Amino acid sequence: MSPVAVFGGTFDPVHYGHLRTAFEMLQALRFHEVRFIPCGDPPHRGGTFADSRLRMRMVEVAISGQDGFVADDRELQRGGPSYSIETLEDLRGEFPDRSIGLILGMDAFLGLTSWHRWEEILSFAHIVVAHRPGWKAPDIGALGDLLSEHGTHRVDDLHTALQGRIHIHAVTQLEISSTEIRELVAAGRDPRFLMPDAVRDVIEESKVYMSTTNE
Ligand code: ATP
Repeated sequence: MSPVAVFGGTFDPVHYGHLRTAFEMLQALRFHEVRFIPCGDPPHRGGTFADSRLRMRMVEVAISGQDGFVADDRELQRGGPSYSIETLEDLRGEFPDRSIGLILGMDAFLGLTSWHRWEEILSFAHIVVAHRPGWKAPDIGALGDLLSEHGTHRVDDLHTALQGRIHIHAVTQLEISSTEIRELVAAGRDPRFLMPDAVRDVIEESKVYMSTTNE
């Protein structure tokens, strides 16, 4: 059975860097689906700019109509800090016989060892890392060791094992970040073509991000 992929993030807001990465992986790695899971209370950051309801809405309108893309609000429902390990435990209970892949940008992968119970992640899922502009795969330290022990170039390994492998996948490099988009909107500029128009409409209607740089 093909893998269920988990794509977590603050999605504050979701943009084409997220969407194109998820789409290329859905196709190239033959995922059953990609679940976009906005985090509620990100433990690593000082909070979000758009509230969870609005971030969820932006994800829903962004993926609407795309087969294999699913918006999943379990971290928002759970409340409290959003720990990926708890989400993966949850999903493992729901999909006991399906392989699970956790999608991470290279920047997020490089911070993995600071995550809650990070050593257990590979007991519940594979890790699928997307190249991001300006970031390099680790070859030393705990992550270098993890990669040499669990790394695989074979897409089939993500299908035959339920969890436990790390695969680095080159995706089209789109140098877009939510931070840049928020700064652009706060400066009164138009974020058009960095994200689907439907997301831009939500930003415009809600007036979110207008005062980011003034805080
Ligand atoms: P911010 O600028 O607020 O930090 P972000 O653009 O990095 O946000 P997140 O919601 O924090 O977006 O990212 C969710 C996931 O998407 C992370 O694993 C991150 O590495 C990945 N990601 C974000 N932007 C891109 C991009 N342009 N290309 C590939 N992966 C990306």
